[in-house]
Amino acid sequence: MCGIVGYLGARDCTSVLMDGLEKLEYRGYDSAGIAVFEGAEIKTVKTRGKLAAMSEKLEREGSPKGHCGIGHTRWATHGEPSDVNSHPHSNGRVTIVHNGIIENYAELKEFLTEQGYTFLSQTDSEVVACLLDYYYAERNPLHAITETLKELRGSYALGIIFKDFPERVYAARFGSPLIVGLGEGENFIASDIPAFLKYTKDYVLLDDNEIVRLDPNGARFFDLHGMSIEKERQTAEWDVEQAQKCGFPHYMLKEIHEQPDVVGKMLDGIVKDGEPDFTQFGVTDDMLRGFRRVFITACGTAMYAGMVAKYAMERLARVPVTVEIASEFRYMEPIVGEGDLVIVVSQSGETADTKASLELAKELGATTLAVVNVKYSAIAREADICINTLGGLEIAVASTKAYSVQITTLYLLAFRFAFARGEIDENELKRLTEQLCGTPKLISDVIERSDECQFIASKLVNTETLFFIGRGLDYALSLEGSLKLKEISYIHSEAYAAGELKHGPIALIQQNIPVITIATQRHVVEKTISNMEEVKARGANVIMICREDARVADGKADLRLDLALGELDDLLAPLPTMCALQLIAYYSSILRGNDPDKPRNLAKSVTTE
Ligand code: GLU
Repeated sequence: MCGIVGYLGARDCTSVLMDGLEKLEYRGYDSAGIAVFEGAEIKTVKTRGKLAAMSEKLEREGSPKGHCGIGHTRWATHGEPSDVNSHPHSNGRVTIVHNGIIENYAELKEFLTEQGYTFLSQTDSEVVACLLDYYYAERNPLHAITETLKELRGSYALGIIFKDFPERVYAARFGSPLIVGLGEGENFIASDIPAFLKYTKDYVLLDDNEIVRLDPNGARFFDLHGMSIEKERQTAEWDVEQAQKCGFPHYMLKEIHEQPDVVGKMLDGIVKDGEPDFTQFGVTDDMLRGFRRVFITACGTAMYAGMVAKYAMERLARVPVTVEIASEFRYMEPIVGEGDLVIVVSQSGETADTKASLELAKELGATTLAVVNVKYSAIAREADICINTLGGLEIAVASTKAYSVQITTLYLLAFRFAFARGEIDENELKRLTEQLCGTPKLISDVIERSDECQFIASKLVNTETLFFIGRGLDYALSLEGSLKLKEISYIHSEAYAAGELKHGPIALIQQNIPVITIATQRHVVEKTISNMEEVKARGANVIMICREDARVADGKADLRLDLALGELDDLLAPLPTMCALQLIAYYSSILRGNDPDKPRNLAKSVTTE
């Protein structure tokens, strides 16, 4: 959520900040702003709205000319999106940008008001600027920061400049990501690497309760006592190309098209001698044999990847698997402990609820395993075991390729689990693995049929509401297909286990309501088709997505997308089938005139509760 950038170097600071903010747009935001030193003065320009509104304002009011400054895209939590609530916020001698939530802001505000401070905005963030100014009595920035941080509760990444120090940028974090980019004679702070990837691949990860100071001599790091600390320098594996659209009209479409490749990479990374090998992550067969139960906890799409994994693990490994929404898990006093495996799944590795669930599971004595796409993320570093998915940089807010690599990883884990527990033999382990290795080709085949997906989308664009139905893994897929459609097309949709329709939702079926029926699971296909006929009989417009050999009486499906899955095991059908649902959601969004990369109200990595 939200983006922070900061720069100190020889380039034009405004351009670097604006460029960096653009690279962070994917995180979601509703307003933007920058503060740049023009000589000894700080010039702040900020506005409600997108970066285009910022550029216009800069043109109107003149761009600040300087070499040191901070910038922000805000995703409002406290106070409506407005010019005055936009960051940066200044008070006294301090200007800040903040990502996160200051939970004790009300009491701090009361205290600071008593001290004579007045507030301009409704944000929680402004108290940080005031508190820094309050502790700046000794004109020692580091002291002011350490004293301030000790008083803050909640989560924050902060970019800070002090009026008295026109060649310094400070930053600190607790619970929200912040990365320091190290260039030649120039340095950066940012919420994510793409913001400075164009200038340098070298970076340092700031940890909780750490502070960085950028000055003309470089970057120095400090702990909460103001003591200097050493940090490890790392190099990003991504290249600039990954952060570009490469000829695609949207990142989302590019990322859908990358799926055969990234699933292939994931398989290459884990499959050794024809079978999944997790020993590189410290996961042995002995260990897998020892677990009593498995919990999978995550949010949104990652949680639905967990649903697919539940079906696969339970069916193959005969181990009980519970999938819980992370925001529920963390507060439900879960009955979890030693002998349990808790798998957390997160694209960004920063998802606040998932991170809290991970911490709780650790505290309760469970073994924790993270499946994350960002290897420098907090979740990746905190879990006992971490499997990095190899999806590469995912920029579109609606997750596509990250989901594919998550389920690929979890399938492989399910296979290994089943083998370790003696539920399948080596031949079956190899057979399943080989089948999974065939899915990149099948995903490509679906991508080739984008036109048909677009045609299906054209039948949905004028509807107010629609349903997805399916059984078993098709139900797990329905949930994700429905979420994808909602996120970017804004069409209301519901996903139901097909057998559950009669227990209520069928009351909503009326003339021409689209019902997307997913029917790839042969052991229940006839049941699903019966449910489909029930809605057809009530006037629904039925769109069926199924294996090409599914037998349906003439006229029962208004539209059919037959997937040529060949000999693919039903268990693995979600991988290619999902791609069709992603394309349908994508084209529905386009046809309705939306921007699929930046859906309204949504943020890419949800770092607040
Ligand atoms: N809580 C702050 C605000 O509402 C920062 C939100 C953000 O992370 O963008 O202004």
